[in-house]
Amino acid sequence: MTDTPPPASQQGWDRAEFTCGRCFVTVTATTEREYIRLVAGHKAQCPPTARATAS
Ligand SMILES: [Zn+2]
Repeated sequence: MTDTPPPASQQGWDRAEFTCGRCFVTVTATTEREYIRLVAGHKAQCPPTARATAS
């Protein structure tokens, strides 16, 4: 079984998801740089403990 080599755009990074452990928001990035920026940016804005459960 020999798979044909994927295009350059799909080699290595295809899509990466990061789920925040605080607010459980999931962000999706298509490049490593974008991933790092999204994660860092989210962590900078994510509240430490957001208790907004109004029920
Ligand atoms: Zn968060």
